[in-house]
Amino acid sequence: MKHFAAAALALSMLPPVAAAEPELQISWAGTRTANSAPAQNFTGSVRVEMLYTPAGPERTSAGSVSFAAGARTAWHTHPLGQTLIVTAGVGRVQRLGGPIEEIKAGDVVHIPPGMKHWHGAAPTSAMTHIAITEALDGKAVDWLEQVSDAQYGASQAAAAAGPSQAQRLLGDVAPKLAQLTDDVLFGDVWARPGLSPRDRSLITVSALIAMNRPDQLRSHMSRALDNGLSKDELAEALTHLAFYAGWPNAVTATGVAREVFATRP
Ligand code: MN
Repeated sequence: MKHFAAAALALSMLPPVAAAEPELQISWAGTRTANSAPAQNFTGSVRVEMLYTPAGPERTSAGSVSFAAGARTAWHTHPLGQTLIVTAGVGRVQRLGGPIEEIKAGDVVHIPPGMKHWHGAAPTSAMTHIAITEALDGKAVDWLEQVSDAQYGASQAAAAAGPSQAQRLLGDVAPKLAQLTDDVLFGDVWARPGLSPRDRSLITVSALIAMNRPDQLRSHMSRALDNGLSKDELAEALTHLAFYAGWPNAVTATGVAREVFATRP
C-alpha cells in the first residue's frame, strides 16, 4: 500500500505528456560507421556510411558512398529513381547507351526511375557522393551485371592521359619513386576513406604553403580545386597561414595561386 502511494505520488509529479509525441532524431557527426560495400554489386574499394535509414511508413534513405580511384557500382536501376550529390573528388556516371559523364564535387545527378546506369570514381581520383533513394515496396535498387574494365574505360583513359605526373617528373631518374608515388601515395593513401579527398587536399596545400614548396604547391592547388575546394577557400587558407607559417611563405604561395587560378574557370 505504501509503495502504491509512493508510485502514485511520483506519477502525479511528472509533467503531463502528450500521447506518442515523436522525438527529434539527430545522428551526430562522428557517431556513424562506414562499411565495405558488397563485392557482388561493386568493383574496387567502396565504403558506405548510411546517413538515414527509413523507419515506419517512410521510404527514403540517404547514404554517403566513397569510391577509391577506379571503383564503381555494377549496372543497376532504381524503381523510383535516385539523386546523387557529389561531395568530394572526381567521378563518373553513365546511363546505358549514353556517354560517360565526368562529375565533380558540387554536381548533382538525378537518375529517373528504371534507368539502367552505373556511378563511381574516376580512374585516377577518388569520389564521394551522397545517394538519396526512395524504395518501392521495400526495394530501392535492382542490381545487374558488373561494369567491365572495357565499359569503364579505365585502360583507354590511362592511355589517353599518358604517363602520370610522377612518371613525367621522376620516371627517367627514379622510376621506383615514380611508381611508389602513383601506387602508394595516390593509389592508396589518398584513396583511403578516413579523410575525404577535399580534406586531404586542404591539409596537403597547407603543409606545402607552410614549408614554402611552390613547385609541389602548384599541382596540389590544382588538385585541391578538383577535389572540391573553392578559390575563395584556398585564398582564405593563404591568409590564415600567413599568421602561422610566416608572411613570406604566404606571399610566395599567393603567386602560385594566381598562376593556378588563371588556368581555371
Ligand atoms: Mn544508382
